[in-house]
Amino acid sequence: MRRVSIFGSTGSIGVNTVDLLTRQGAAVQTVALTGGRNVALLAEQARRLRADLAVTAHDDCYAALKDALAGSGIAVAAGTAALVEAADRPADWVMSAIVGAAGLAPGFRALRQGRTLALANKESLVTAGPLLMAEARAHGATILPVDSEHSAVFQALTGEDMAAVERIIITASGGPFRDWSAERIAAATPDQAAAHPNWSMGRRISVDSASMFNKALELIETHEFFGIDPDRIEVLVHPQSIVHALVGFVDGALMAHLGAPDMRHAIGYALNWPDRAPVPVARLDLAQIGRLSFEPPDERRFPALRLAREVMKLGGLAGAAFNAAKEVALDHFLAGRLAFPGMAAVVEEVLARLSRESGLSNAAVGLDDVVEVDARARIAARDAAVRWQRKDQR
Ligand code: NDP
Repeated sequence: MRRVSIFGSTGSIGVNTVDLLTRQGAAVQTVALTGGRNVALLAEQARRLRADLAVTAHDDCYAALKDALAGSGIAVAAGTAALVEAADRPADWVMSAIVGAAGLAPGFRALRQGRTLALANKESLVTAGPLLMAEARAHGATILPVDSEHSAVFQALTGEDMAAVERIIITASGGPFRDWSAERIAAATPDQAAAHPNWSMGRRISVDSASMFNKALELIETHEFFGIDPDRIEVLVHPQSIVHALVGFVDGALMAHLGAPDMRHAIGYALNWPDRAPVPVARLDLAQIGRLSFEPPDERRFPALRLAREVMKLGGLAGAAFNAAKEVALDHFLAGRLAFPGMAAVVEEVLARLSRESGLSNAAVGLDDVVEVDARARIAARDAAVRWQRKDQR
């Protein structure tokens, strides 16, 4: 029987993964499920999948989780160390779907067991791509991308030689502000930013889609995962979110991946890989859709893409600084303490400051280096956010 664990089972990706696993019924044994504050859902999932272990990331949620699972025979743990220990439990397939840099350590540890890691947590590749890929190689583990664009590229590359690849194009819906003026975007509220036109996702990634920081992370993710030069990766705005990515080959051919905007497609692909099996997503009726449109991204209104290119140029630890600064800026925006354009301003400032002070281009030797830069970037980002807030209030 296949043993599976899900890190971040209570989130948007996690819930979809649980849905697909529930349909597989007796064919899987659930080793560990982890969540954060949504203890009721975590307990319900653990009972439904008869998990061996349920872990909440927060110590103060331990008692509630223990109560909710009383009499079930399911082991309960709490805290960040417990998350990493859960990744030590033997499993054949592990879903990494914690949001943010918090997902890095458990995913990293899972690779040490030489397992298949289905990677939704794009921050792992952005902050520590070379370390993560090296760890997978060293332990004979497989990483399968779960971001829809990267799953699409992965599928388009099946049976192909990377030497024949000329370019990779990832698409972006453009988010809720695609046709908003810069002035209107400047006054956007968190609820407006979280209202994604096509995808149903967690609140943080939805706001990142509106600012194009999500696409910026995905540019870096493409570079790290597929090992392709940054100048051969393109972003194409495609409002219908039907074409997820395209791979261009040296003979001029473009292989596109199309599918309904439903994350269960990419999750199901990673779950069934290397085979294909039925996945309950809507089938496309292209005649009914009628028209697919494409346009270039506007880096003036959405500077995140330009910043991602700077990060790839810098290399080394720049991705860790970029992601940490972005996470802090996003916290401030969601809390109503920073205007929408302030997020990019904060990230740009942090990158410039840390490059000046410590040369972000140095390669990370170990995860400790990543953790250290992450911490410094968060402090710098908090300073910058406070300054931008004051400027906005003037
Ligand atoms: P959600 O916010 O919906 O869920 C995040 C999960 O992580 C929840 O289980 C949450 O627990 C848990 N969590 C939150 N903070 C912590 C923490 N500090 N430590 C441990 N666990 C924590 O996120 P998504 O499912 O939307 O995204 C998950 C990852 O997948 C992200 O990296 C995202 O970029 C990526 N991704 C998501 C896509 C999507 O469609 N949603 C598409 C492609 C990639 P709780 O809710 O119980 O507090």
